[in-house]
Amino acid sequence: MNYDQFFADKVAALKVEGRYRVFADLEREAGNFPTAKNYQKDGTADITVWCSNDYLGMGQSRVVIDAMHEAVDKCGAGAGGTRNISGTNHFHVLLEEELASLHNKEAGLIFTSGYVANLTTLSTIGQMMPELVIISDALNHNSMIAGIRHSRSDKMIFKHNDLVDLEAKLKEVGPDRPKMIAFESVYSMDGDVAQIKEICDLADKYDALTFIDEVHAVGLYGQHGAGIAERDGLMDRLDIIQGTLAKGFGVVGGYVAGSSPMCDFIRSYGDGFIFSSSMPPAVAAGALASIKYIREHNELREQHQERAAMLKRRLTDVGIPVMPSVTHIVPVMVGDSVLCKQASDELLFNHSIYVQSINYPTVPRGTERLRFTPTPLHNDELMDHLVSSLQKVWGQLGLKQAA
Ligand SMILES: *Cc1c(COP(=O)(O)O)cnc(C)c1O
Repeated sequence: MNYDQFFADKVAALKVEGRYRVFADLEREAGNFPTAKNYQKDGTADITVWCSNDYLGMGQSRVVIDAMHEAVDKCGAGAGGTRNISGTNHFHVLLEEELASLHNKEAGLIFTSGYVANLTTLSTIGQMMPELVIISDALNHNSMIAGIRHSRSDKMIFKHNDLVDLEAKLKEVGPDRPKMIAFESVYSMDGDVAQIKEICDLADKYDALTFIDEVHAVGLYGQHGAGIAERDGLMDRLDIIQGTLAKGFGVVGGYVAGSSPMCDFIRSYGDGFIFSSSMPPAVAAGALASIKYIREHNELREQHQERAAMLKRRLTDVGIPVMPSVTHIVPVMVGDSVLCKQASDELLFNHSIYVQSINYPTVPRGTERLRFTPTPLHNDELMDHLVSSLQKVWGQLGLKQAA
């Protein structure tokens, strides 16, 4: 068999569909966010990043950078092992305590990424708990789906954010089997929010465990940045809160927070926790500094919300089809993979604006979109330029206006 031919054919099929992924080759400049250098064929260009998940620019924050410098000078580069075999650094311990405290839980457990946190926690619980049925929102992230699949538990998928369908599924399973409801707080591609209170009410009524992914909300919602559950006063009603250190907190890594027995269980049985070297101490120190800062600075969250509301309003005013998001995420519908990529390329190469086109399988086919994530550092001037550039590109490519 010609193996390379097989690989090349698979990739060629993506190109035909217009969803072959080309990564922007960026060099971020500390202190200059949201500006970055883009390495192109003919040299470099300064561009404005409009699609970063570094939602508050914390990856550029002096507080975080200084903490990482200090820790790297003190502890060196790597952690030196898995958590069990010499790789638990004191910064890991402090970070887990901070996360438990942030979410008002007994314990926290860190992983090398949010993806691994979801994969490991869901798969471990599912593998170990006899008869468990995992009831999962239809729009859950790939990392949750992977965890559920890997658990080999029975699973049921409820219609996105549909309480009637969720209750029907809970009833169908019956009272004799353990159940877990797995869902997100902020859905990152549409910018809508789960009905957390109502889901918790159903979990109580049918005695189900609740697992919430707050990846797109931690750092960004609630008085101390613990997420939507904090904002809505519901943290104590959720059994397992999962988050990332890579988006609002601006560094990298993932975690779960919950009861001591639950965290101890995942620590003791979770393959993705046990069999992988722990994150560098400096990463843990940076994340710790970021969380501490963010907890005390609610004004960052207010600025963030103001910027997002302003961008939605300004795009709506000129007929750009903003999708009905109730969060900081500003998705604009294009509805065609080839046009979406063209719009993104046009913005990048002729307007110095970088917004990635979002295609299948990240979103359903026919709902291809541009997803803008304004931060407190995207000022009015940058927004003026974005709005006028989008108007030009919309006219040039004949894209659909708002209905
Ligand atoms: C990004 C993302 C993750 C994974 O988090 P990482 O820390 O980037 O690995 C998990 N869940 C959702 C909803 C995400 O968008």
